[in-house]
Amino acid sequence: MDKAKIEAGVKLILEGIGEDVGREGLLDTPARIARMYEETCAGNSEDAGVHLKKTFSVENSGMVVEKDIVFYSTCEHHMMPFYGKAHIAYIPDGKVVGISKLARTVEVYAKRLQIQERMTGQIADAIMEHLSPKGVMVMLEAEHMCMTMRGVKKPGSKTVTLASRGVFEEDGALKEQFFHMID
Ligand code: ZN
Repeated sequence: MDKAKIEAGVKLILEGIGEDVGREGLLDTPARIARMYEETCAGNSEDAGVHLKKTFSVENSGMVVEKDIVFYSTCEHHMMPFYGKAHIAYIPDGKVVGISKLARTVEVYAKRLQIQERMTGQIADAIMEHLSPKGVMVMLEAEHMCMTMRGVKKPGSKTVTLASRGVFEEDGALKEQFFHMID
């Protein structure tokens, strides 16, 4: 990541909104924001496969559900936070991963400039690719600061997105079971 570029850019934004970039409170702001992006956009240089490649064998496992995985991401349209919970279900076909790896996978895709719809699909696709399960279902519910702090200003409103792959695509009963389990 080019921190010097971020710092120069933040300085321009501060000047653009009419701030005095030399005043005490703002002196370190460009450098601080550059360090912040290093963390909040760290997923750009990460691959979910790193977390999902260590699998364990299981036989005849039913649905595995990991719910209420808290995430923080940044919307690519306004570069403001959106945050909420991810719920993931998959039906193993012989392979499972450690539960914390699903949360790690969510992190990889959250720590980039994102739109919620794409992030939902990326998580589902990564699990399909690395675990080859019978099916995956991912649901994200999030509050977008660009909707609650500015624009239409609807605090508390949530955007819900869903991605289904494999058996979840055709089987309505499985979907129902998923919604029951995350309720
Ligand atoms: Zn936005």
